Amino acid sequence: MSYDAIIIGAGSVGVPTAMAIAEQGLKPLVIDMNALPGQGENKHAIGGVRATHSDPGKILIGRRSLEILSTWEERHGDCIEWLRGGYTFPLYRQQDADLLKGLVPIQKSYGLNIDVIKPKDMQELVPGINPEGLLGGTFSPDDGSISPLLTINAFYRRAKELGAEFKFKEKVTGLDTNRGQITGVRTDKGQYTAPVVVDAAGPYSREIGKMVGTELTVIPDSHEAAITEPVKSFFSCMVVDIRPGPDSKNYYFYQNRHGQVVFCITPDPPIFGTDKGATSTFLPQVCARMVTLLPRLKNIRVRRTWRGLYPMTPDGSPLVGWNKEVKGLVHAAGMCGQGLMLGPGLAELVGRLVVSKTIDDDEIILQEFSPYRKFKEMEALK
Ligand SMILES: Cc1cc2nc3c(=O)[nH]c(=O)nc-3n(C[C@H](O)[C@H](O)[C@H](O)COP(=O)(O)OP(=O)(O)OC[C@H]3O[C@@H](n4cnc5c(N)ncnc54)[C@H](O)[C@@H]3O)c2cc1C
Repeated sequence: MSYDAIIIGAGSVGVPTAMAIAEQGLKPLVIDMNALPGQGENKHAIGGVRATHSDPGKILIGRRSLEILSTWEERHGDCIEWLRGGYTFPLYRQQDADLLKGLVPIQKSYGLNIDVIKPKDMQELVPGINPEGLLGGTFSPDDGSISPLLTINAFYRRAKELGAEFKFKEKVTGLDTNRGQITGVRTDKGQYTAPVVVDAAGPYSREIGKMVGTELTVIPDSHEAAITEPVKSFFSCMVVDIRPGPDSKNYYFYQNRHGQVVFCITPDPPIFGTDKGATSTFLPQVCARMVTLLPRLKNIRVRRTWRGLYPMTPDGSPLVGWNKEVKGLVHAAGMCGQGLMLGPGLAELVGRLVVSKTIDDDEIILQEFSPYRKFKEMEALK
């Protein structure tokens, strides 16, 4: 069967991309090996969405994603549990204060609503936060959170309304080309043709690249998360503690619209691989740190833990753009720990790329996210 574009992956990037391509008047097909949308890494995200990054491309994309997500319910009627709680980075170490305060002018120059706040304001924002050594922090009130699964299902319904087709339980096993031009994909069940193929395969994008001899540095990296029982709401912002701890870097948590605290941590060193089995080390590790920061969490009970994969790249930024060896193949891969917040904005960019209608900001973003860039150091606010 023939389509205008085939998208590999019905995840955080693939589903909104189907919507964006269909909005351009084209007929996309999305293929996913799982049974439903969002069953790859989308459902493992804890729901944080922010535009307060430190690199221009991510700021621009993050801002557009926030516009889409924060207005979705009024535009389309679906509840996606958008909560404008903001993001806060409490500061206890002078070196962290210097780094984050130094970023604020750059973030403001991109129109972000972010400010440095005093210790007393931080104590109002996160009641009960440990005051010992607290230097204040940063707060960006326009960031927030969503339910990943409610959001992807809203996007899925909208994409279908716009004419996108989906095939589930079908694995892409090969890419077809003719004289350097993509012509379609092969799956374990059939063959489909299209002049454009979008790689939105998340942690498995490296395998998609290999199908045409392209080495994409997307490496799966295991991260665990958890959710508590609901309790009366007492804070709503995402709290990000960037201090390192035993075998870990930062950890972050927020209270969702149901009053549940959702949290995860960044292991150090990273745990590369595709192991999604929950461990017995995660909860003691993260809970000790959270209770030191916010002692009133000590009696709350954890309901469920899970483990998922970040599709990591060497510098923490995505790989987005046309493949140089095979015409018609677009990569929208390597979302690291930010695919939920980057997905909707990036999807629109991919839609414009496919119909050759990119705008000025897209060029800044495409340069920053080029799959062929030389990797520099990790983004400051990864
Ligand atoms: C614990 C944890 C917490 C996180 N928290 C956040 C957060 O708060 N905010 C945030 O923005 N991000 C967060 N993330 C990261 C986020 O989940 C990912 O960045 C994002 O889901 C990646 O999107 P994707 O579309 O690239 O991949 P996915 O959502 O995994 O989609 C890729 C899809 O491709 C399919 N696929 C792959 N290969 C094939 C093939 N050969 N054939 C057919 N189908 C294929 C897969 O089945 C999958 O459905 C978190 C991740 C974890 C693990």
